[in-house]
Amino acid sequence: MAERLEKTANLFARMWRDYLNPYWARILLALFFLVIEGSTLGVLSWMLKPLFDRVFVGGDTDAIWWVGGVIFALFLIRAATFVINRSLMTSVSLAVSTKMQIDMLRHIMTLDSSFFQKNPPGAMIERVQGDSIAVQGVWSTFISGAGRDVVSLVALFGVAIAVDPGWTLAALIGAPLLILPTVLVQRYIRRKMRQNRVNASQRATRLDEVLHGINAVKLNRMEDYQTSRFAQIVDRIRQGQIKMSAIGATVPALVDIVTGLGFVGVLALGGAEVTRGERTVGDFMSFFTAMALAFQPLRRLGSLAGTWQIAAASLERIYAVLDMRPAITSGPRTAPPPDTTIRLDDVRLSYDSHPVLNGLTFTAEAGQTTALVGPSGAGKSTVFNLLTRMIDPDSGQITLGGVALREFSLTTLRDQFSTVSQDAALFDETLRENILLGHDQDDAALRRAVIAAHVADFTDALPQGLDTPAGPRGSALSGGQRQRVAIARAVLRDAPILLLDEATSALDAQSERLVQEALDELSAGRTTLVIAHRLSTVRQADKIVVLEAGRVVEEGNHDQLMAQGGVYAALVRLQFGDK
Ligand code: ADP
Repeated sequence: MAERLEKTANLFARMWRDYLNPYWARILLALFFLVIEGSTLGVLSWMLKPLFDRVFVGGDTDAIWWVGGVIFALFLIRAATFVINRSLMTSVSLAVSTKMQIDMLRHIMTLDSSFFQKNPPGAMIERVQGDSIAVQGVWSTFISGAGRDVVSLVALFGVAIAVDPGWTLAALIGAPLLILPTVLVQRYIRRKMRQNRVNASQRATRLDEVLHGINAVKLNRMEDYQTSRFAQIVDRIRQGQIKMSAIGATVPALVDIVTGLGFVGVLALGGAEVTRGERTVGDFMSFFTAMALAFQPLRRLGSLAGTWQIAAASLERIYAVLDMRPAITSGPRTAPPPDTTIRLDDVRLSYDSHPVLNGLTFTAEAGQTTALVGPSGAGKSTVFNLLTRMIDPDSGQITLGGVALREFSLTTLRDQFSTVSQDAALFDETLRENILLGHDQDDAALRRAVIAAHVADFTDALPQGLDTPAGPRGSALSGGQRQRVAIARAVLRDAPILLLDEATSALDAQSERLVQEALDELSAGRTTLVIAHRLSTVRQADKIVVLEAGRVVEEGNHDQLMAQGGVYAALVRLQFGDK
């Protein structure tokens, strides 16, 4: 219990340090107005004493005016401070959630690919959006609402104690009844809220997968299946929320009961004293009003008991992501490698104890084309991922120009490579933006790249040309067109090493010729590593490395390997049906 409280306190302390601290002045100002706003209720109840004793009992009609004036002024102050408070707190809470969202995205982008395998996009979207907004909403209601209510209660109880400490005690007779339920409800809401956030992530993931795979869903007639899976998830969310709000309502409901007991207690004790003439009617009205005014804030605070647990649950999830450290970290070297010879030496890699690379050793000479050939699953794409450090090997050395990859800063390393593949990630932006990728380039350079990559061949005919939207994930383009956009990117990047993942799906003859031409031009003079499927590429390669089950089984050029009559020769005969 104490430990949990400490953990929650630490979470909020961190949020203060990371996000709220810069706004301390604004928060302080808001608190100042909060105190004013909250204490008006106390003053209001205090004003009832002169109202009753002087006006109603004493018959001093003049007092009506000044008491009435003070009461009206109190409401004016309340109105003004409420507006100021609300604006200040909203600006702070929005600034906080905005920064949280930005920080999360920036941080998430540094995490390893293994992270993204375990955390689907939908779940991460929910974390960035849903959790930061949950924190923001709770934070503003909590601080402005609860803050004002706490101040009100302090002021009102101040008045109550000033009038009669004995009555105050009588009013609080039922209060201990609240303690245990409040603790239990908080614990329950925290647990439910965690579950609720997990369910919300699942909902986002489901939506993301259905929408991205919409064609597969339709073609396989999975509509009903997907709908029922989705229905299950949203139903769990609905049930969870109903339970949460029912359980959350028990504390304010108990406040009602406790307040009722208090009123009876005060009536019994105070009523008798007033009738005996020991206290004035004004005393009693003042006290009674303070109690009556305390009722609403108390009730609201009761319902907030669970609310701050909602923020805690989301904060926990936000910090869980922000605390994750990528295993793949940047090295110190920012100078480019002395040359672009790539060497892999006894590289081993397993995915969850499933070995993928088993002592892979080969060299790709600078300025030459090295083709990687082998059956599907042999580890060819994995080699690309290792070179760009999307993953790190379990053991073995990989060097670029004789320098270990880990030595380079990730930016420097990745700047050395252009990757071209048919599943080039296209964004839902214009073709121009998809090619420039945020880099500044003059129009002439862009035009040259677009022509060299044979992108102009299809964009020139489009009414909007390069300003045509590529559609979500480039869905407005054909496979061959997407690949040519990727080539245009590579031409503009002008990186010294080219990683080429040839499409497995066959392009039509026309597209293939255009893509091939563009690639030949691009790879001239560059160190090129190609996962080769096309016979033309394989033939022309300076070196062919044949992979099988994560190790090199043959190495040489086409003629040498054909002459050997081994795995490669068999593959060629099988795949290309020839010579
Ligand atoms: P290739 O490109 O030669 O077809 P890959 O390099 O893509 O082969 O994959 C090699 C092996 O590694 C395959 O058995 C594949 O299932 C496995 N693999 C690739 N990526 C992952 C991953 N992220 N998690 C688990 N296994 C993977």
